[in-house]
Amino acid sequence: MNLLLAEDDAILADALCEQMRASGFTVEHAPNGAVAQYLLAKQQFDVVVLDLGLPMVSGIDVLRQLRQTDASLPVLILTALDSLEDRVAGLNAGADDYLTKPFDFPELEARLRALLRRSRALKASTELGQLSMQRETRSAQVRGEMLELSPREFDLLDLLLTHQGRVITKEQINQAWSGDRAAPSASDGAATNAVEVYIHRLRRKLEGAQVAIRTVRGLGYLLELERA
Ligand code: CA
Repeated sequence: MNLLLAEDDAILADALCEQMRASGFTVEHAPNGAVAQYLLAKQQFDVVVLDLGLPMVSGIDVLRQLRQTDASLPVLILTALDSLEDRVAGLNAGADDYLTKPFDFPELEARLRALLRRSRALKASTELGQLSMQRETRSAQVRGEMLELSPREFDLLDLLLTHQGRVITKEQINQAWSGDRAAPSASDGAATNAVEVYIHRLRRKLEGAQVAIRTVRGLGYLLELERA
């Protein structure tokens, strides 16, 4: 697990680096925001611990810039005990979690492991068989070939993939669609039939993906690997 620690307090940074390495993390340390940005551009990390009060470039600016290119890299921010505003700003800028100083190392480690578990689960949920999907760009591919999907088809695929191996109901599908940005097209038909129509269309588009949308009678649908 590659971790970036951006922290300008040398004593705290040294102690954290030592403890994290002892816990099995590979750690890079950035003593200011500029170095943090440089390392983020140059290397792959699994998780970032980001102090907000950093010299050169503030933690908030590091985070804002990171989020323009990477929406999913988990970031835990460190803030001073009394600065609620910083914490809110950090979360608004795209932090996944925060800890207020001073904190205990076991708590930091537990939070980091929780973030890593969540991000791994999310990654796993966007691939199955020869099918892959990217939420950031709302795109999906079968064997590397881009699928042409309407907004509703994408939402349906997202739901199926996220819950792969588990049944999703027509009601869940309709709920996912109710948040759609695109207005339903004339071909959507009545809600109940629409689900079946879209499932049918998606099945055809997923041919060759080695996945199957199985109908579970009376319950709904589930996405699974095609049985040989
Ligand atoms: Ca600081």
